[in-house]
Amino acid sequence: MLKVYHNLIKNKRLKEDRAIENLLRVRPVRSLSGVINVSVLTKPYTCPGTCTFCPKEENIPKSYLSGEPAVERAKRLKYDPYIQVKKRIDVLESTGHNAEKIDLRVIGGTWSYYNTKYKIWFVKRCFDACNEIEYKKEPYSNKTIKELFKELEKAQKLNESTRYRIIGLSFETRPDFINEKEVFEMRRLGATKIEIGVQSVYNNILKKTKRGHDVNATIKATRLLKNAGFKVSYQIMLNLPLSNIEKDLNMARELFKNEKFKPDYLKIYPCALVRSSELYKDYKKGNYKPYTERELIDLIKSIKKEVPYYTRIERIIRDIPAPLIVEGGAKTSNLRQIIDREIQKENWKCKCIRCREIRAQKQDKDIKMFRENYLAQSQNEIFLSFEDNKRNHLYSVLRLRITPNMAMIREVHTYGESKKIKEKGEVQHKGFGKALISEAEKITKQEFNINKIYVISGVGVRDYYRKLGYRLENYYMVKDL
Ligand SMILES: [Zn+2]
Repeated sequence: MLKVYHNLIKNKRLKEDRAIENLLRVRPVRSLSGVINVSVLTKPYTCPGTCTFCPKEENIPKSYLSGEPAVERAKRLKYDPYIQVKKRIDVLESTGHNAEKIDLRVIGGTWSYYNTKYKIWFVKRCFDACNEIEYKKEPYSNKTIKELFKELEKAQKLNESTRYRIIGLSFETRPDFINEKEVFEMRRLGATKIEIGVQSVYNNILKKTKRGHDVNATIKATRLLKNAGFKVSYQIMLNLPLSNIEKDLNMARELFKNEKFKPDYLKIYPCALVRSSELYKDYKKGNYKPYTERELIDLIKSIKKEVPYYTRIERIIRDIPAPLIVEGGAKTSNLRQIIDREIQKENWKCKCIRCREIRAQKQDKDIKMFRENYLAQSQNEIFLSFEDNKRNHLYSVLRLRITPNMAMIREVHTYGESKKIKEKGEVQHKGFGKALISEAEKITKQEFNINKIYVISGVGVRDYYRKLGYRLENYYMVKDL
């Protein structure tokens, strides 16, 4: 119906009517965070990991399962990055969403383990799809890395002014694969956020599950990534062997309070017991027991009670189809909704970013700027935000990191419905972002006496910063103050 409606407007047989458009739009929540999320899967590969909790399926990227919606989509499209992106844009637009601002998430296990040529080609093909370049098969193995980077940079340049812009790009990888070289390459590819599989902060658990790295790898990766301006997302697992409810809660406290960690984003994945994992053998022998639904709900609620204002709990469960899970609370796929309902009944609020983002609600009368200062990896982090007086509704956030003699804006995000880039939105484009950036510039110059500020900017947002006096320098947008 929406397609018919759009055609009628295109042919000038009907006048545009927002009420009709909103009514016909499917699942409006998808675009409420201001941007559209698009996930693309890399091809199946031989994972370097041996984690006992991990499913082992043929022809599926490690740690993923057939039946997961994103995996099924990618499989049908033979993991072709161009077609995956193109299809998602088409589907979102045909269901009434504005897909012009794309937050691209590359998933599939350990990004850093793929060969460099594949990585550059993969990202370039995602840009090609957004740039509406006509599809053709494009082999990459006969080209040099230098040539491939040149092609990618051309595609990125094009994306600065095209219709579908990649405003954020994230990769997921293992913390022990993060080093200076990898960090630089990720920036060159255009990444703005890195998800690392932390799983646990306890070495005995990491060892028992054959994770292959210790907690120091996580600490080091967090430092390198944040110093380079990346937003850092942790994936942690509850209910791993040798852990228990108390230990899991302590881990969350450690993440939020210990300055060695302090992730910007957090994904909580309760260990899901699947038959193809090594853990299943332990379970059969009686050496492992999944938490019940009740235990899991209470644990996640306790974790939410500890979350600071500057962390966003992105997920609390993986998209694994229930029939694949042997037993336990991880089978409950609507865990988040159940938890939200209970929290509402108990009359308290999760302080995390996600739970406070302004969505379709009416805008508050009094909105003011808040500032939180904290230390992370021994550096100053300043979190600026526009919120209502009670701090229940979040309109816009900015993360500023000050390392010795360097100021780096790691994130600027305004919430609300995703609007076309030139259209004036209800919340977006009201100048919140601009006001936060100018405050960050002021803090940098006046409080820290630093005369230059960097922004890790998605390729599709470079133009926005240019208008604010920034220029591109070594893959960052910079401005002299
Ligand atoms: Zn929350």
